Amino acid sequence: MLFANYHTHNRWCDGQGEIAAVVEAALAAGLRQIGISSHAPVPFATSYALPLEDLPAYRAEVLRLREIYAGRIEVLLGLELDALPALRAFNRDRVLPLGFDYAIGSIHYLGGDGDLWPLDLSAERFDALLHERYGGDIRRLVEDYYDLNAALADYPGVAIVGHLDRGAKLWNAGDRYFSEGAPWYRAAVERALSAFAASGTIVELSTGGWRRGLEEPFPSAWIVRRCRELGIHLTVNSDAHHPDRLTFAYDRALALLRGAGYREIAAFDSATGGWAARPLE
Ligand SMILES: [Zn+2]
Ligand SMILES: [Zn+2]
Repeated sequence: MLFANYHTHNRWCDGQGEIAAVVEAALAAGLRQIGISSHAPVPFATSYALPLEDLPAYRAEVLRLREIYAGRIEVLLGLELDALPALRAFNRDRVLPLGFDYAIGSIHYLGGDGDLWPLDLSAERFDALLHERYGGDIRRLVEDYYDLNAALADYPGVAIVGHLDRGAKLWNAGDRYFSEGAPWYRAAVERALSAFAASGTIVELSTGGWRRGLEEPFPSAWIVRRCRELGIHLTVNSDAHHPDRLTFAYDRALALLRGAGYREIAAFDSATGGWAARPLE
């Protein structure tokens, strides 16, 4: 039985439903912890992220629900940070100082200041990024993506790497662009995993890949097995954007974890404000 979901969205960002509805659904699903992790504000116009001016009210709403549900389920105050190097100072100075239990660091873009290219908006935008910015060189694009992920090992506030490998493989069904078995691809993943192993950064196993109809979750099963070999701790999350999908494919995720040899899972410890390994039941 998996007891938590640390990666959930709601109507304050690009998800559906009130935060209270997410908490109620988590209770109904038998979870003991529910992490609210709206997309953190970014210093450019978007439709998916919390506006910076809403951040104090978002925080207050999660803390209000924490009080109301105390003793029944732990409500955790999280954020999903766009953890790009270009946003490092903004996140450190404008977002994180308000105080959060944890942040998930995610890479949704390549590029830099004023030249950000979304990886996951659509297949067409990904193809445009590949051809217009990378001249069709998928290897260079993917290596840049994993370099940004590796940098999450040393990013302010980041405890968990969000949907590792999604940005590389989301539009790669049928090996359209590359094979995950290519030595250069494995090496790029390996560099990121080495950084996480050295820093103790947690990697999430996101069931979102299955939800999007892919054969593999984020990250792929072979990466989960490499994480195990390297001693990297995992959490299982669904990246749900709707209260009804909180524990989507949790049974499959648990089977994958066990098959990879995991006997423990990372859990937030409210007493210490940190993360600890908890036995898989
Ligand atoms: Zn994300
Ligand atoms: Zn998310």
